[in-house]
Amino acid sequence: MQIKEILTQTPVQQEVTVKGWVRTKRGQAAVTFIAINDGSTIHNIQAVVEGNTINEETLKLVTTGACVAITGKLIASVGSGQAVEVQAEKIEVYGTADETFPMQPKRHSMEFLREKAHLRFRTNTFGAVFRIRHALAFAIHKYFNDKGFFYLHTPIITASDAEGAGEMFHVTTLDIKNPPKTETGDIDYKEDFFGRETSLTVSGQLEGELGALALSKIYTFGPTFRAENSNTTRHLAEFWMIEPEVAFYELEDNMTLAEDFVQNVIQYALENCADDLAFLEKRLLEEEKNKPQNERSPMSLIEKLRFVVDNQFERLTYTEAIDILLKSKAHKEKKFQYPVEWGIDLQSEHERYLVEKHFKKPVILTNYPREIKAFYMKQDADGKTVRAMDVLFPGIGEIIGGSQREDDYEKLVTRVKEVGIDPENIWWYLETRKFGSAPHAGFGLGFERLVLFVTGMTNIRDVIAFPRTPKSAEF
Ligand code: ATP
Ligand code: MN
Repeated sequence: MQIKEILTQTPVQQEVTVKGWVRTKRGQAAVTFIAINDGSTIHNIQAVVEGNTINEETLKLVTTGACVAITGKLIASVGSGQAVEVQAEKIEVYGTADETFPMQPKRHSMEFLREKAHLRFRTNTFGAVFRIRHALAFAIHKYFNDKGFFYLHTPIITASDAEGAGEMFHVTTLDIKNPPKTETGDIDYKEDFFGRETSLTVSGQLEGELGALALSKIYTFGPTFRAENSNTTRHLAEFWMIEPEVAFYELEDNMTLAEDFVQNVIQYALENCADDLAFLEKRLLEEEKNKPQNERSPMSLIEKLRFVVDNQFERLTYTEAIDILLKSKAHKEKKFQYPVEWGIDLQSEHERYLVEKHFKKPVILTNYPREIKAFYMKQDADGKTVRAMDVLFPGIGEIIGGSQREDDYEKLVTRVKEVGIDPENIWWYLETRKFGSAPHAGFGLGFERLVLFVTGMTNIRDVIAFPRTPKSAEF
């Protein structure tokens, strides 16, 4: 039985065996209290060793970090911290841990824990984060399955460099010290494994669209790679993205889906991860105590999640957003680092102003200038904007980017050429607009940004098990 289950049992002196890692050991010769955690829950189970029921040699090996199996009777706890505890009769030590074990029971900095990513799972914080991450992944699959979407696995290795979503990692088996060359001196990718230049995918969208234009409703959920050298708290070189794509959806439907989807999976976490969220909420409160009053968030973690679930997102166009920014005190007093004018790609500071200061709730911005958005977005009649939508969240900025897709063959080909892509490279994508084209729309949600929001963690490196960032790929 896992600790999560044992903790819910009615204690009738039944024999149980608890297997897990020792968090703390305290007490004197007469009674020793051992707190054990097996990762199934944030809560530890307490084992009590009385007198000399366990020989001294064994008990000495039971230290913070050691892995043990403790057998004994499950009894009602006299202490206040827990309902039940184990009256230890037998202890088997699977693996010892001496005092150099880094996860000693005290507060460690997130930076320190990142360097110990192989052991940080054994802290309360990371246990909570990864249980919530699991719950969110499960909720995502459940949401789409319940709504009749099909999970499509799009390729990780791709030959289309047409996405333009970011810098790509090359995939090759060529000898990089001595690659084969063409007559003109370029690398001869015809000799490469796939007979062409290939990279790791930056998005499954283009392939997702092919699926949607037959299965109607699909979603992808897979690893995504961007070789962008941006060392921010919101960017990873390897992250997971969820990309639904739906035939017969227009921009409005797409917004409604995005909103309902995010609210639904957050609601799932609220219902199923209450203990872990309560722990993280307390943790965040303590962390914010060190901040000046005006930098503390007005809502607690759970209040913030409830707020997102219960309130409609604000919908407005990019042009309306620019007007708000231009009229803002921050702009007039030159508080923005980057200038504001129609046509700019909104910076994080602008997005956060709209969300955190102006509307004080999640915002969906639509109809961005075509020049700053991808070629595949459906062009508006005004010739200036496209049917894009970005969902902006407090503390995070962009959490979702999506659009209605261009479904007109001629318009799409013209745009492809304008942005300098050879239509030959994505002939298969373009062909779907020749054969039974349909209005369709979709979006991409960065999974780690969602986990970041739900857990209240502040750095994206702390919500993925083994982060990949510039100059860092240990573990
Ligand atoms: P940003 O402006 O924040 O870099 P983007 O415009 O590059 O995002 P998209 O190409 O629209 O993002 O990707 C869709 C979603 O994937 C984003 O809304 C975000 O949630 C997530 N995302 C994008 N880049 C990263 C990254 N490097 N690390 C983690 N998540 C990312
Ligand atoms: Mn980006």
